[in-house]
Amino acid sequence: MPDRFDLIIIGAGPGGYVAAIRAAQLGLQVACIDKGPSLGGTCLNIGCIPSKALLDSSELYALAKSRFDRHGIKVGDVGLDLAKMMERKNRVVKGLTDGVAFLFKKNKITSMQGTAGLAGAKRVIVQKSDKESTTLEANAILLATGSEPAALSNLPFNGTTIVSSTEALTFDTVPGQLIVIGAGYIGLEMGSVWSRLGSKVTVLEFLPRIVPTMDAEIAVLLHKILEKQGLKFHLETKVTRATARGNQVVVEAETKSKAVSFEVDRVLVAVGRRPLTAGLGLEELGIIKDAKTGQVMVDEDYQTNVKGVYAIGDLIAGPMLAHKAQDEGVAFAERLAGQKAHVNYAAIPGVVYTWPEVASVGLTEEQTKERGQEYRIGKFPFAANGRARCLDETDGWVKIIADARTDRVLGVHILGPRASDLIAEAVNVIEFAGSSEDIARICHAHPTLSEAVREAALAVDRRAIHA
Ligand SMILES: Cc1cc2nc3c(=O)[nH]c(=O)nc-3n(C[C@H](O)[C@H](O)[C@H](O)COP(=O)(O)OP(=O)(O)OC[C@H]3O[C@@H](n4cnc5c(N)ncnc54)[C@H](O)[C@@H]3O)c2cc1C
Repeated sequence: MPDRFDLIIIGAGPGGYVAAIRAAQLGLQVACIDKGPSLGGTCLNIGCIPSKALLDSSELYALAKSRFDRHGIKVGDVGLDLAKMMERKNRVVKGLTDGVAFLFKKNKITSMQGTAGLAGAKRVIVQKSDKESTTLEANAILLATGSEPAALSNLPFNGTTIVSSTEALTFDTVPGQLIVIGAGYIGLEMGSVWSRLGSKVTVLEFLPRIVPTMDAEIAVLLHKILEKQGLKFHLETKVTRATARGNQVVVEAETKSKAVSFEVDRVLVAVGRRPLTAGLGLEELGIIKDAKTGQVMVDEDYQTNVKGVYAIGDLIAGPMLAHKAQDEGVAFAERLAGQKAHVNYAAIPGVVYTWPEVASVGLTEEQTKERGQEYRIGKFPFAANGRARCLDETDGWVKIIADARTDRVLGVHILGPRASDLIAEAVNVIEFAGSSEDIARICHAHPTLSEAVREAALAVDRRAIHA
């Protein structure tokens, strides 16, 4: 007899593990299966967490090397122990993945390691090893298998010199020359890590700008700042071929006017991610996917066209972000339990963890224009913010887009120190349908970076105090 549960979840990433915990809190018997050796999915093991651990370590290294002096701090020769930096990153990851295992135990969730696939609308087969498999049954099955790096057909990964972000998180030496293909957030974050640690980094991007989903004005400024930090960019450049030559790779590309080639140590292909559905048995059950993107199609309950089979996270439409997957996990579990939860897709922040950071929520200026909406803009530079000056972090600004008639905040875009934390205030205001006047009237502690958000809100009405 197969083991029976109320809910079986395939995938223990931020979507799956959060759904499992919330469903267990609501009294459901839950089993969660993951093929990986530890819980937490892409985010905790090979995504958000290890990349941020390396970004934080490499930023400290860069500060110690070139900026301490400006604060009057004298240090001797600053050296790099890459193995130790990687060990620290691995410890951070292990602490957090162990934490998820603890939460599973605490919430009495059955956790299973193995590769799972659907064997019917209410049945899952888990292949635990070559020889061992088990069958589970439930009235509800949640697919949360996430995504995998997209490869370029003319540039297949070889795991050593032509790699995805997974390998770029574990290089054991600093590449002398690194090509990053793709100027999205993963390419820029990993490019920043290796550039700070000493690589000569060149970013090749097919489009005419970097971070294509972000506000264009912010993208232009970020481009300039990263160039000042030493990253080189070739925009409107199409990579045509890469050939491994011993330990080197020759990358050939075409710009608008000429063919170019680069001989480098490593190539990081960061051109996006695609939903991971192989082996899940979707075709056999007739589960409908988007023909173009491969994303699983769901309704407002996250239910696929097959009753009782649900999907969330990177597997479905929307930004491929951990917090979006988590929020969907909570909403899915609560709706399954008969509650009325929902995710506000208009208030999902996006962050690029370069230094300075970029964070944004809501509409970009381009999207606002496309909608034909009348708007006003307030901007405030960090150079005029007291705390930013104390920190010696004056690059960037806050930009607020507000409806010209109602003053409702439509979008907030921040380029600056700790933008990732500052954006939370804007997310709150957008969630509560607030106005720029609301932000302007709220008392902000002094001296803090958050005062720049308030000043930008005042600037919407041309009454910023400090600019
Ligand atoms: C380098 C990098 C940096 C990132 N940084 C950020 C960031 O800073 N902020 C952010 O919000 N997002 C970030 N992301 C994106 C984020 O990791 C994903 O959006 C998020 O992990 C998606 O969650 P998920 O639960 O949908 O899927 P995943 O986290 O991908 O988890 C899916 C899980 O399913 C398992 N699985 C797949 N198929 C099967 C199967 N057949 N049987 C059993 N198990 C299976 C996998 O092993 C995996 O553990 C980053 C991604 C990368 C690659």
